[in-house]
Amino acid sequence: MSLLETTPADWEYFTKGNANLLFRYRGPLGKYTDKLLRVRLFNDLPDYVSTKTIVQYVKTNFEESFHKELCEQELVKVSPDFLTGLSERCGHTLMCDDYALVMPNLLRGVVQSVKLAKNCILHIAQEEGSEVVTLEFKPKWLYDNTRIYCRNCAHGQMQGVPRHFCPLDLLHIERVTGAIDDMFLEMKKDETKGILSYKSVLVSFFTNSDILHRLKRIQSRSTQSVKDITSAGDVTEELSLSMTLRDVTLFVEMRQGGTEYSESSDLFLIDGVAFSCKCYVIDLDLKANSKFRHWAKTEQKLQEYYDRTELDAWPGCFRK
Ligand SMILES: [Zn+2]
Repeated sequence: MSLLETTPADWEYFTKGNANLLFRYRGPLGKYTDKLLRVRLFNDLPDYVSTKTIVQYVKTNFEESFHKELCEQELVKVSPDFLTGLSERCGHTLMCDDYALVMPNLLRGVVQSVKLAKNCILHIAQEEGSEVVTLEFKPKWLYDNTRIYCRNCAHGQMQGVPRHFCPLDLLHIERVTGAIDDMFLEMKKDETKGILSYKSVLVSFFTNSDILHRLKRIQSRSTQSVKDITSAGDVTEELSLSMTLRDVTLFVEMRQGGTEYSESSDLFLIDGVAFSCKCYVIDLDLKANSKFRHWAKTEQKLQEYYDRTELDAWPGCFRK
């Protein structure tokens, strides 16, 4: 696919992550309707990871493990002029990459987005008259915790963010209901009224799905301590895979009715009503090994937060 038939003016700036920018299509061609264009933000790392490398990396390492959850994504050739045009439209400097990605917009028709916690947003959309509710979140570091706080909750305290749910709770069947309640704790009462059934769908989903366990399993292949890395050469392939999976985003898309999806979706009956639920894993980006400095420094700083006992400390995380 080539983007020659579209112009930068057809793509409207949508959102920005740490390493990528997303644009949504606003032009006249039907084949790009509901599509996003993902381009790489400028960085000065010596080992820049290109879009083409990322696509190959996902294919080689994750196509088998996450075949049900991967989004279709298409590599498209982009010219320097096209990237300059996009850059002028959004004010961000882009990497001069030969390729970009075209992928589906999982948040089409969104009418309301509520931030539930750090890295956790609930999107409510209307699609042809029916409601689609999507939970977007980063499960981050999944492992068996042995300290007072897991890495996620220690990191939250270090950053001074408001207390939030612990992602590790979603790994234990008996703790899933509490974790979902915790996730929605900050949502105002009048806002939660219309979405109570979706909370139950999420409980069913995390109780039945093995997606977080799969992420945990591959993350655990590396036993390397991040805080002791002293050079990019120390970063093993396993650690690299772990660091990718410690930063993925999950979209759990829920809608009423049981006919929308194929084998890649789950069906749940909540108070006699059928809901279908589909999970996507995105942002499976290979990280540059030169980021080891940032990883090690963060982990060193985190040490004093793992066993915090100060008065304002959060309730401790689950330990097996
Ligand atoms: Zn935790």
